[in-house]
Amino acid sequence: MKAPSFAYEKVANLEEALQRLHEHGDAARVLAGGQSLLPALNLRLTHPQWLIDIAGLDALRGERLRHEVLELGALTTHRELASSALVRKHLPLLAMAVPYVAHAAIRNRGTIGGSLALADPAAEYPAVALACEASMLLRSVRGERKVKARDYFQGLYQTALESDEILCAVEFPVARSSERFAFEELARRHGDYAMAGLAARAQFDAQHRLERLHLAFFALGDRPMLAPQATACLVDQTINPQSIRDAQQALGADLSPPDDLQAKAATKLHWAKVLLGRVLSSLASHQGA
Ligand SMILES: Cc1cc2nc3c(=O)[nH]c(=O)nc-3n(C[C@H](O)[C@H](O)[C@H](O)COP(=O)(O)OP(=O)(O)OC[C@H]3O[C@@H](n4cnc5c(N)ncnc54)[C@H](O)[C@@H]3O)c2cc1C
Repeated sequence: MKAPSFAYEKVANLEEALQRLHEHGDAARVLAGGQSLLPALNLRLTHPQWLIDIAGLDALRGERLRHEVLELGALTTHRELASSALVRKHLPLLAMAVPYVAHAAIRNRGTIGGSLALADPAAEYPAVALACEASMLLRSVRGERKVKARDYFQGLYQTALESDEILCAVEFPVARSSERFAFEELARRHGDYAMAGLAARAQFDAQHRLERLHLAFFALGDRPMLAPQATACLVDQTINPQSIRDAQQALGADLSPPDDLQAKAATKLHWAKVLLGRVLSSLASHQGA
């Protein structure tokens, strides 16, 4: 199939892009890496009248380390994230997730901002952003606002982004030396969207008990989801076979994945429990490290 007809404008700067979105509202879509938008157009899943091409805006590219925060420009590509020394050092969870995102050709053009704006429930970065308590920097002609990941992801492909806003950057608190991370996903083939996934961030005390834990599941609901009941079974405990079983049991109260073409809900919940066991075993191998 071919894309429906649309008007295309390559903007010279961010202000121009924001002005166009202000003028066209919901009739316009921002074009970043195009790796999700162009297939969606060709499949006629979306019918914008305007494409506002922001791919040339250098202001939205690259990494900035300030104080305890690493800010990643929205146009930073998956490939750039994969080769970034700052990401490896300060955002180990993101570094663990990048190799799971799509295939090399898509990673060359696809951007972190595009992934967070699209908010596919099976995508890796939204879960990483949730586990790491990242914040999205959104701009429009009305001004700038910062939205925490837990408020930003609002439903199936739904975020706090308004139709006249651009996601300019995402701010991640840098990892503390005492934090530990683990990432697991299940996919039919490496690079495919996940069928189930888990991004985890943990901190242990001197007695090897979990002091803080963020478990962000993805591909198991309409958005990335924290697991408060499972987490409550683990905080103030060491990770051991019993606490893992308790957390797996409690996970049924946190997640209610829908049946879909890939699997029944019960199977998906089973996958989530298996991933939780793997992630906790991986974190346990670092207990007190
Ligand atoms: C075969 C295939 C496999 C894939 N596998 C995976 C996978 O395993 N995991 C994964 O996470 N992704 C996967 N993807 C998607 C890929 O990661 C995309 O690159 C990403 O989802 C979108 O980034 P983009 O820069 O290409 O955005 P685009 O396609 O340009 O845009 C996507 C959407 O976001 C909006 N948008 C983009 N940037 C902004 C911004 N800065 N502000 C506001 N709105 C914006 C656009 O208007 C559009 O609605 C896959 C894609 C394909 C084609």
